[in-house]
Amino acid sequence: MTDATKSKSGGCLCGAVRFDVTGPLRDIILCHCTMCQKAGGHHFAATAALTADLDIKHSGSLKWFKSSHYAHRGFCADCGSSLFWKMDERDSTSIMAGSFDEDIDLPVTSQVFMADRKSYYTPDATIPAYDTYPKGS
Ligand SMILES: [Zn+2]
Ligand SMILES: [Zn+2]
Repeated sequence: MTDATKSKSGGCLCGAVRFDVTGPLRDIILCHCTMCQKAGGHHFAATAALTADLDIKHSGSLKWFKSSHYAHRGFCADCGSSLFWKMDERDSTSIMAGSFDEDIDLPVTSQVFMADRKSYYTPDATIPAYDTYPKGS
């Protein structure tokens, strides 16, 4: 978790979608599920915030794609940047770590869905890795 008192800003590549996060951010998770790989071209590195702490500004450029029966993915329809992942029943929203303007200075604490990983790169063996998603996180 980061310092909750300092707001963090980010946005898509073209600037049509901008956001501010006013609350704490979760440590970063690398997700290797097949859906993340398809959506981003590689694994996803995501932090998360309470949805109530996430202030999104856009002019219709943010689109939400229903990527599974339980979640939506938010992206910029103008430039294609992947920005958000939200489980429909949860009060938090995952935010792609690379979409922030500044370094958010958070550790990567787990690598999930490693069973779906492709073999073209070597994962960091010092980061805990799980075949699926660990229970309780
Ligand atoms: Zn954009
Ligand atoms: Zn994933």
